Amino acid sequence: PEPTPSGRRAEIDPDKLDPDALKVIHRLHSHGHQAYLVGGCVRDLMLGRTPKDFDIATSAHPGEVRAIFRNCRLIGRRFRLAHIYFKGGKIIEVSTFRANPTELDASNGEAPAENGEEEGSEAEESQDLLITHDNVFGTAEQDARRRDFTMNGLFYEVAEGQVIDYVRGRRDIDERYIRTIGDPEIRMREDPVRILRAVRFAAKLGLDIESRTYAAMEGAVEDLPRCAPARLLEETFRLIRGGVAAPTLRLLAALDALKVLLPPVAAYFKEQGRRSQDTFYAYAEALDRRVSSGEPLDDAILLAALLVPIAQTAPVVESQDPSVRPSVAQAIEDLLAEFVQSARLPRRIAERCRLLLIAQRTLTGERRRRTGAFRRHPLFNDALIVFEIAVEATGQYREALEAWKRGELPPVKPAEGTSTEGG
Ligand code: ATP
Ligand code: MG
Repeated sequence: PEPTPSGRRAEIDPDKLDPDALKVIHRLHSHGHQAYLVGGCVRDLMLGRTPKDFDIATSAHPGEVRAIFRNCRLIGRRFRLAHIYFKGGKIIEVSTFRANPTELDASNGEAPAENGEEEGSEAEESQDLLITHDNVFGTAEQDARRRDFTMNGLFYEVAEGQVIDYVRGRRDIDERYIRTIGDPEIRMREDPVRILRAVRFAAKLGLDIESRTYAAMEGAVEDLPRCAPARLLEETFRLIRGGVAAPTLRLLAALDALKVLLPPVAAYFKEQGRRSQDTFYAYAEALDRRVSSGEPLDDAILLAALLVPIAQTAPVVESQDPSVRPSVAQAIEDLLAEFVQSARLPRRIAERCRLLLIAQRTLTGERRRRTGAFRRHPLFNDALIVFEIAVEATGQYREALEAWKRGELPPVKPAEGTSTEGG
């Protein structure tokens, strides 16, 4: 590789940089602001991977960013940042340097320029590590230090072609370790969502979690229930969408975090024993393979595919009374209702997930429906995708799947003894 001006080997191939992100940075520079590429894109480039998106950190305040760019919108209430729009729906995210509010509380007790909006009593509660406000502007170095892991705290200075490393992220990337910036105990406690982020990066990037960071994750699991449910659900979805559901859920099970994230899964493991875990992970692996093949699957399909084995633990309720609506296992009904109520899962997604799970029983042949109408149902194709994943996971119901694909009915199967879980 080419040496950079500083004599270091080129760590980042300039051809891999996004031209629109470069435009944004040059524009900010020309207005006298500092601006760097930051976070996931720098990490991915240093690992030789293609970044999903390019984020920028700048000394410019959100209002200043907006004044410079026409194609710009400010988003977020607590954490205001700028989205700059480009052709093809591309968005470059520009955030102002921020400091870790708990560190400021601890060090000088005086928070510098807050960006207004929300603040108040929370700022005084400095004994409590949980971060409840993070709207404090800071310097580039403070911005690096407030980030979660050393590999995510690197800046890339495009004009010089240099990686700026305030957090020893370069060393950890070279050694392939995930390590929190600063004291792992404090960093995990102040935001336990980082537990999920660590397992995702470990699985997705093939990195090890450094041992003190791992110990701190174990300690912070008990604080997970204090995190905003919407954030927990979103990070959980990111595991599944990233095609790393199986390895990350195994890690989270080992950390005893499933009882908070997916209580019915934890209960299923406990009540149904060892084989239930094998079944569950077989579904997760089949799902991961499907996601990794690049097929876009929406959140309802992802969640349904993961929950099929648990949904099937409840007996099929076949009522003659048409007003009795078919249901899945109560624990799943409760989980979906809870996600909608407190984790801001769109009701539409929860309902689609429910229907996809219910449809599985028709697809297996357990429930006999008017199949003509079932086929024309708008969810039929998605239900069939979930069914394919289930067949792939268990090896069961291949005949039924082939029949449905041929446009025929599945062979009749008795409800008893057809599921792998024996529940
Ligand atoms: P991915 O490629 O999966 O998006 P990412 O590193 O870009 O990974 P994001 O969630 O997009 O992850 O966050 C962007 C950056 O913001 C991170 O690299 C990290 O520096 C910082 N960050 C995100 N979440 C946290 C958090 N909970 N605590 C501290 N810093 C965070
Ligand atoms: Mg990102």
